[in-house]
Amino acid sequence: MFETLSDKLSSALRNLRGVGKLSEDNMADALKEVRTALLSADVHFKVARQFVDKVREEVIGKDVLKGVTPGQQIVKIIHDELVKLLGEGETQLNPKKPLKVMMVGLHGSGKTTSSAKLGRLLKKRDYANPHLVACDVYRPAAIDQLEILAKANDLGFTCDRDSKDVPAIGRAGLAAAKAAGSELIIFDTAGRLQIDHDLIEEVKRLRDTVQPDEVILVADGALGQEAVNVAKAFHDALNLTGLILTKLDGDARGGAALSIKSITGVPIKFVGLGEKVEEFEVFHPDRLASRILGMGDVVSLVEKAQEHIDEKEAERMAEKLRKADFNLEDFLAQMQQVKKMGSMQSIVGMLPGMNNVELDDSADKQMKRTESIILSMTIKERRNPQILNGSRRMRIANGAGVKVVEVNQLLKQFQQMQKMMRMMKGSKGRKMMKQMKA
Ligand code: GDP
Repeated sequence: MFETLSDKLSSALRNLRGVGKLSEDNMADALKEVRTALLSADVHFKVARQFVDKVREEVIGKDVLKGVTPGQQIVKIIHDELVKLLGEGETQLNPKKPLKVMMVGLHGSGKTTSSAKLGRLLKKRDYANPHLVACDVYRPAAIDQLEILAKANDLGFTCDRDSKDVPAIGRAGLAAAKAAGSELIIFDTAGRLQIDHDLIEEVKRLRDTVQPDEVILVADGALGQEAVNVAKAFHDALNLTGLILTKLDGDARGGAALSIKSITGVPIKFVGLGEKVEEFEVFHPDRLASRILGMGDVVSLVEKAQEHIDEKEAERMAEKLRKADFNLEDFLAQMQQVKKMGSMQSIVGMLPGMNNVELDDSADKQMKRTESIILSMTIKERRNPQILNGSRRMRIANGAGVKVVEVNQLLKQFQQMQKMMRMMKGSKGRKMMKQMKA
């Protein structure tokens, strides 16, 4: 999701690569591109302007941090600003129990589906006997749909197919929920194709009757700028407490999420990620910010790398690699550095384009085995792998609790690595190393 925005931001940041210091000059183009990217992702122009001003304030005049490139540093600043804008730590529901939630929104936004999704999710989170109340009296199909979803997910249900008296249906729902010992009551209200006076008045009457603790607007995430106007109108009339952004699985451009939060101040609490009831989750500003940036979690990778990797040690390794005198002892030391950063899954997950790649735990297991093989060697053997004859290999395999073939495999891989390094020592290699450093 949010491909457009992430692609644009990625290219804006790519152009910054190789810049030495953050200045008004070298930032101007990048910031312009960030602004254009936000606008073309349907972010409201006011929000885009404020956002860019804030980022500019943060970056200009700053020294580039040691150990990160200017591009990485800007990604971090933009990321942090996005998280702030999207509402860090604001996604909690009112903790009251029983909790009364009123769902409002335009027709087709995903209200009915989201009512069931929310009931199902909170049931798993210790809300006893969630109850759904069908208050959309104009569309019999909506009542049927809610009933089917309630049954399928084992949720309580109240409706009155013969009545148009919405407050009365609300009261009946409350009574039924109370009798069932329900800790969560969700009122699914009617929508229109656009906001109109009658719709708002009806919802207000229901609100005054049932006194909800949460008034949640369900908004179609694919709406873009229009979603902002919808959210604003509902907020002015009903004082919203939260937002559910639906259909983020489609080609939503991301503007809605940024703009609605920024303009109304109403926190996004949940997101809908598909038609199925389980395709629904609590909103995570930091996750969405990373996704918008489309760079995996480069930010925490940078942070982790800085925290754990000793710069001197890294330089020593680079020097050894350059001279191609990298031995198994160095290999072990490097592996231990990488391990400090977390599991292979967590490291891979932070890399751009790799956040969907699932590793089983075999990568970690393999790393552990390799480590124990090297640890079973004497220092002399680690420094001079060429002395490892058959009997030494057998002893090492026994010590590490692995088969001799695994020791052989490791040594073969290591030999290949050494061969590559020797090749890199030549002029071609120097060019390659330079590229790797840049
Ligand atoms: P309502 O009129 O606001 O009650 O909207 P509905 O709950 O009936 O949803 C309208 C349509 O959008 C239905 O076809 C839903 O299956 C679909 N829908 C709802 N939420 C999502 C979502 O998060 N992703 C996708 N892809 N479809 C959704």
